[in-house]
Amino acid sequence: MTEALSDLVRSMPKAELHMHIEGSLEPELIFALAERNGVTLPYASVEDLRRAYAFTDLQSFLDIYYAGASVLQTERDFYDMTWAYLERAHADNVLHTEIFFDPQTHTERGIGFPIVIGGIHRALTDAQKEWGLSASLILCFLRHLSEAEAFATLEEAMPHRDKFIGVGLDSSERGNPPEKFERVFARCRELGLHLVAHAGEEGPPEYIYTALDKLHVERIDHGVRCLEDPVLTARLAREQVALTVCPLSNIKLRVFDRIHDHNILELLDAGIAATVNSDDPAYFGGYVNDNYVALFESLPLTRDHAYRLARNSFAAAFIDEEAKAAYLRQVDDYFATA
Ligand SMILES: [Zn+2]
Repeated sequence: MTEALSDLVRSMPKAELHMHIEGSLEPELIFALAERNGVTLPYASVEDLRRAYAFTDLQSFLDIYYAGASVLQTERDFYDMTWAYLERAHADNVLHTEIFFDPQTHTERGIGFPIVIGGIHRALTDAQKEWGLSASLILCFLRHLSEAEAFATLEEAMPHRDKFIGVGLDSSERGNPPEKFERVFARCRELGLHLVAHAGEEGPPEYIYTALDKLHVERIDHGVRCLEDPVLTARLAREQVALTVCPLSNIKLRVFDRIHDHNILELLDAGIAATVNSDDPAYFGGYVNDNYVALFESLPLTRDHAYRLARNSFAAAFIDEEAKAAYLRQVDDYFATA
């Protein structure tokens, strides 16, 4: 990759649509929060914790992810975590971000829902004031938990309906198909919430079908296994269902062996509205620009691909048409002069 192309992808305006805020907790912050809250961690040092990030699959990551999240206790902790991410997103020229949060990870250990969403939301408001960075929240249900628990979480969330725009589905994919949450998503749809779900990361293409047809999601998170099914691939392209692809995550969790094997180019060539995102940046080796650069360094991606990826990121965002058109114009203007 030329230096010019690297600079181009770093500085182009972009949106990020797949990032779990608890996955942005850097080991340094985990230790700082543990000390602030008197929590004893099962790791001797920051380095010791970082060494544990040698995952073999999604579950081995999730085990550490939930341990890391246990240091989050007060509204200020949630604020500090979110602010740290927003600073990095701003530095990567992210103009709009849609952030996942996992309330059940916290309410299950006795942290109140208002503390969780209050701290995160206050940071989003400050980023808007400070940099004009637009950010919204998507509440994710943990799919390894039950339908009843998801309904209970939705109930708890409703008094805070003005602070989130949609719901998603994350955590252990295999054995927890989307249709397990069909009735929860039907209720969320009635409530006018945007709908997304992780599908086709480790799970089979069949999960992408059921996410679309039973949950009625508007975007698929990951979805990279769609290429195993030509009919599905054609449908995603025809219906322009965006995929929020997370390249470094896919390598860390062994969805692909090497970044050179990643299928983003095939997705784009198939006409799919793929986007690039960081997933759990503290755990997977980088924020959104690191993901772009890794792809552009390893695959024959061009300036035209960069343009398409930047446009896709805003086109797939849950924002009003006027704001979307303004961001797309910004992308066009950037590429006209860059
Ligand atoms: Zn994810």
